[in-house]
Amino acid sequence: MNHTVIIGLEVHVQLQTKSKIFCGCSADFNPDHPNVQTCPVCLGLPGALPVMNREAFELGVKTALALNCEISSYTKWDRKHYYYPDLPKGFQISQFDLPFSEDGFLEIETNPETGERRRIGIIRAHLEEDAGKNLHDDAGRSDSQVDLNRAGTPLLEIVSQPDMRTAAEATKYLQELRLLLTYLGVSDCNMQEGSLRCDANVNLHIHQDDGHKVPTPIVEVKNLNSFRNVEIALEYEVQRQLEAFKATGIKFGDKGGHKTTRGFDAGTGKTTPQREKEDSADYRYFPDPDLLPVTVTEDYISSVREALPEFPADRRKRFVAAYQLSDYDVQVIVDQGRGFGDYFEEVAKLCGDGKQACNWVTQDILRELKERKLEFSEFPISAPVLGDLLGRITKKKLTTKSAREIFMDLLDGNGASTARIDEIIAAKGLAIVEDTGAIEKVIATVIDKNAKAVADFKAGKQAAVGALIGQVMREVKGADPQKVREMLIAALSQR
Ligand code: ZN
Ligand code: MN
Repeated sequence: MNHTVIIGLEVHVQLQTKSKIFCGCSADFNPDHPNVQTCPVCLGLPGALPVMNREAFELGVKTALALNCEISSYTKWDRKHYYYPDLPKGFQISQFDLPFSEDGFLEIETNPETGERRRIGIIRAHLEEDAGKNLHDDAGRSDSQVDLNRAGTPLLEIVSQPDMRTAAEATKYLQELRLLLTYLGVSDCNMQEGSLRCDANVNLHIHQDDGHKVPTPIVEVKNLNSFRNVEIALEYEVQRQLEAFKATGIKFGDKGGHKTTRGFDAGTGKTTPQREKEDSADYRYFPDPDLLPVTVTEDYISSVREALPEFPADRRKRFVAAYQLSDYDVQVIVDQGRGFGDYFEEVAKLCGDGKQACNWVTQDILRELKERKLEFSEFPISAPVLGDLLGRITKKKLTTKSAREIFMDLLDGNGASTARIDEIIAAKGLAIVEDTGAIEKVIATVIDKNAKAVADFKAGKQAAVGALIGQVMREVKGADPQKVREMLIAALSQR
């Protein structure tokens, strides 16, 4: 007996619009002042009429196109009824049978060693409004309170096919999706603030020795609010279902149990049963009579498509080819986000050396950001300034060692400009000495003072040169060590 793991993800993304999806209230995250971003529409007062936010719709279309989905020319809004204190209308405006987009895919890397990639199908992406928030046990109170600031903010629900086979693959899909969404600029995808929420559907296909395949009942795991939790919850759930199957021993032909819902407890790393999942009939879906259906033209879709930025997957391919970088290096750059990749590219073009630019941004910059606890957006050295600094190495006007010294100096608060680079070079005498005559004189004196090293060199000990380079460099600061080495060997060979 063996088994296959079947995982599909439902992701809710909060779209970054100024106002809510059906009213003019601010859609900003504002937990400190509850219920101030509300109006008769999002409070569900009688007679208040919703109006669709075009920007929310457009961000949805943008994302769906990036996920290779078909955009429907006709789509409508439906009411999904359920009762909960954070839902004042008693229904959520969502999309049921005619979502605005369907049938796409997202490609993920399934094997980092071979670079093997696979498409994860997207069943549909639809728009809906968010509910408010119930606050339980806040500050030791025994009651619960309701904050409706979030009620009516725009959500995009992205439902994948059950195409993932391991917890790690599911995490990978979620990471790639998050990266794409941030490249598109449609959401900040802040998981702590709930801008990206993930539910997972998981079950097992048990392959029995007699050749029959038995599915375990599908479980929807809710409340996965970090990548780590997605992985822990899914690994736990796979083991739990496997043990439950072995204990109960469903046989082929047994009626599979129906779908259940479980919550994830980050404290214990376990999933626990929640309410029984409603069937869609329980929601009494029907078209919202207050909202017009939306018709979409081919011209509209083309105009949104034309404005799409470069996607992470395309950028990876392009960077490898354009700058002769390894897959690993490109992965590091692209995963840091669109702004970081733009920065790398500007530096690479300015200094004329992609590999060097890559080393500096992925090693020096990432290290300093971490040590100084800075966001990349707060990094004090702009791309033109770093490009100028590294360009001086390419043009052999600075050694890498001196450039690193200047880099650290630029970070230390006295401004970071090209003029400042010139000042530091002048103050510390870091310019590469191009006066070979001066270097030759120093070499001659150093050789005269080191008879033993000269003899060693003559006897075939190449290592003897190293000690001499150090002495020469101390005399002529800013000399290019490679050049000094060549000149030293030439001088020694003539002795
Ligand atoms: Zn409102
Ligand atoms: Mn939903």
